[in-house]
Amino acid sequence: MSLKVLNRPFARHILTKLRAKDTDQVNFRKNLVRLGRLLGYEVADTLSYVETEVETPVGRSKGIVIDSLDRVVIISVLRAATPLVEGLLKAFPSAKQGVVVARRREKESNSPPEKMDVDIYYSKIPKINPEDIVIVADPMLATASTMLKVLDLIYSQGSAKTVYAVCVIASRFGVERLLSSNYHVNIFTVEIDAELNNKGYIVPGLGDAGDRAFG
Ligand code: URA
Repeated sequence: MSLKVLNRPFARHILTKLRAKDTDQVNFRKNLVRLGRLLGYEVADTLSYVETEVETPVGRSKGIVIDSLDRVVIISVLRAATPLVEGLLKAFPSAKQGVVVARRREKESNSPPEKMDVDIYYSKIPKINPEDIVIVADPMLATASTMLKVLDLIYSQGSAKTVYAVCVIASRFGVERLLSSNYHVNIFTVEIDAELNNKGYIVPGLGDAGDRAFG
């Protein structure tokens, strides 16, 4: 289990645009794609590789091959993950893909919810093999209830070699809940925000990622 916070100027620059309430739908989607690409490269850097040699047009060079790139399965948590996955696919063009359509049952309460009721309307997840690298893409890790439901679905299909939860903002609460769950998952995010509001939104966050991306 691990937590990787990108926290780099370029990723934070893009995230700042996503957070800004005046960023319109088209630019919101574009910037989510850009962060997906950066997060994808970051995940790719953690995959194991083997040393090799390669013939160039003018000689031989040492090199490496990341041999598990063909074993990547990306699960989109619809709808907000669609642009994020478009970016992830730049790093993993041959990934198999699955989808989960989930909806949080949001209600106003007197304090931030510790968990959220989540309805799964549809899921289609490819067969998971023990050598597979599974990436669950959901831009916002708030209470972690959706992510845990998706992990339940994935593990009911089989267990993977490594599972990544890729988001652009995570709440501190969601990170702690996920890391203390029974699942062995590596969280990749650009930033961690301190708070959840009484409806389970991340604060300061960026609002509702699905609404902002799709109107
Ligand atoms: N989903 C969102 O889109 N935003 C949040 O802040 C939390 C969940």
